[in-house]
Amino acid sequence: MSKNKHIGIIGGGIAGLTAGIMLQNQGYKVSVFEASENIRGIGAGIGLAANAMKAFEYLNLAEELKQISNVLEDFKVCNPKGETLFAINTAKISENFQTENYAIHRADLHQYLVDKLGEEKIFTGKKLKNFKLLSHQVNLKFKDKSNVIVDFVIGADGVNSKVRRILLPESKPQYAGYWCWRGVVDYEKKDFHKSMAVWGKKGRFGITPLGKNKVYWFACINTKLKGKTTEFTLKDLQNQFRNYTSPIPELLSLSQENELISGPIMDINPINQFKFAKILLIGDAAHATTPNMGQGACMAIEDVAVLQEELKNNDLKTASFNFEKRRLSRTKYIIKNSRRAGKIAQADQQFLIGLRNNIFKTLPEKITQFPLKRLYEEDFMKF
Ligand SMILES: Cc1cc2nc3c(=O)[nH]c(=O)nc-3n(C[C@H](O)[C@H](O)[C@H](O)COP(=O)(O)OP(=O)(O)OC[C@H]3O[C@@H](n4cnc5c(N)ncnc54)[C@H](O)[C@@H]3O)c2cc1C
Repeated sequence: MSKNKHIGIIGGGIAGLTAGIMLQNQGYKVSVFEASENIRGIGAGIGLAANAMKAFEYLNLAEELKQISNVLEDFKVCNPKGETLFAINTAKISENFQTENYAIHRADLHQYLVDKLGEEKIFTGKKLKNFKLLSHQVNLKFKDKSNVIVDFVIGADGVNSKVRRILLPESKPQYAGYWCWRGVVDYEKKDFHKSMAVWGKKGRFGITPLGKNKVYWFACINTKLKGKTTEFTLKDLQNQFRNYTSPIPELLSLSQENELISGPIMDINPINQFKFAKILLIGDAAHATTPNMGQGACMAIEDVAVLQEELKNNDLKTASFNFEKRRLSRTKYIIKNSRRAGKIAQADQQFLIGLRNNIFKTLPEKITQFPLKRLYEEDFMKF
């Protein structure tokens, strides 16, 4: 039955490509339509927590991905002097999902997914403009005036999803109040395996080793969406974080202006529906979250693993219906907790910073890490 169905996937990001591989493996004909002219991951890193690696295991992609990823040993949050405020219990999430936490260069992840799917299944320069529901199919209309008729649509076109905006016009991306810069540098320090985030008045700075002497960093600074800060150059960043603990100044001095990636941090309010007639939303299109829990892409990968399981015994319609039931609550929890975590991490008033740091230093781990309990302990495959 599935062999005859043609699925159009809108968006060639992590969600769209992973879904394409899975659906192709299930016997569907797959076409990925991507708005940009070139399909490639941006020059930054990404954390694949144990839940994402577990989802990749279900999809039979984990073993190869582990070869090009770096195991993350632990993660601590410090003040700008380098004093530990608290450590995230990464072992707990590993234990629960029986696999390690990893980080990978986005370009490597993208290239892997593109190769696995097959470039001939990806159509670039195809920006979806609209679609029309036909009695048994969907007519996809693109900005270049072409159109393609498919049997089913996966909307995987990210936080600004056109598919979602057509279906739910009131669901708009919202700005979290901070802008983010990212970079990857060569940093030759032996045995540098530790990830850390530094929370301070001047902003938040995160460091994640990617292996092979590459280190990914990000910096988040509170600003208005149209504020001057959004135009910060590398020099401005070096100045902003000059008093932060080592290796932050070193990493910024190794960075290149033309390789910086910057943008506003956005999410959406949780929506109550992912399935619409012959259309299913997945990834950021369905549940874009702020990156504070490092779970946006992880949720997209979980989505695909759950959809795969549903498709083993069901047609697309029933599988999508069940998918929605299984994914709404967990992704809503991530959006809400990640927002909350961002507010705490981005505090920039001295009084609040003092209060927060004291709370983290004095309260038992059980309490400070309570918001992560569900992420650690819930088996996303359980229905
Ligand atoms: C600073 C930062 C750090 C992050 N760190 C992590 C992390 O460590 N771990 C983690 O799990 N997540 C992280 N995330 C979140 C993660 O990047 C996203 O959740 C993930 O990339 C979403 O993938 P996606 O495929 O759903 O969407 P996207 O990656 O946004 O892909 C959507 C694709 O659709 C295309 N598209 C858009 N509109 C159209 C259209 N009309 N027609 C056709 N194509 C279209 C786009 O060009 C794009 O290629 C981070 C995010 C940010 C901003």
